[in-house]
Amino acid sequence: MTGQRRVIAQVLSDSDDHPDVETLHQRASRVDPRISIATVYRTVKLFEQANILTRHDFGDGRARYETVPREHHDHLIDIDSGQVIEFRDDEIERLQRDAAQALGYRLVGHRLELYGVRAGKRKARTARTARGSGNGSSNDGEPD
Ligand SMILES: [Zn+2]
Repeated sequence: MTGQRRVIAQVLSDSDDHPDVETLHQRASRVDPRISIATVYRTVKLFEQANILTRHDFGDGRARYETVPREHHDHLIDIDSGQVIEFRDDEIERLQRDAAQALGYRLVGHRLELYGVRAGKRKARTARTARGSGNGSSNDGEPD
């Protein structure tokens, strides 16, 4: 692995907020300013093919990445802040297994994304239109 790839790998494993390529590039640049965004693009593609990381689409049109998690989890996306919250619900897991089984399948994987606004806030907009190409506002909230 080249030095730049190693930096990108390290940045990824240090990130628990599902960064996109631009955010990864910003963080990697702090370690090695010579890293180009093209290198980050190439590297995440490579890591994805090698099953080192998982790509997500959380409805805002930007691919987001996380290292392949040791334990399965699902995601809830706050469509106002863009914050991604990881969760696991055993009953949901069971229901999905049952649904697959009822269709004659053994479940080997799934993806579940919930989109929400904090309870008590104004009515939810739809996830697809919620976050345009706007200000790219800060997305550095803690997952918990
Ligand atoms: Zn996650």
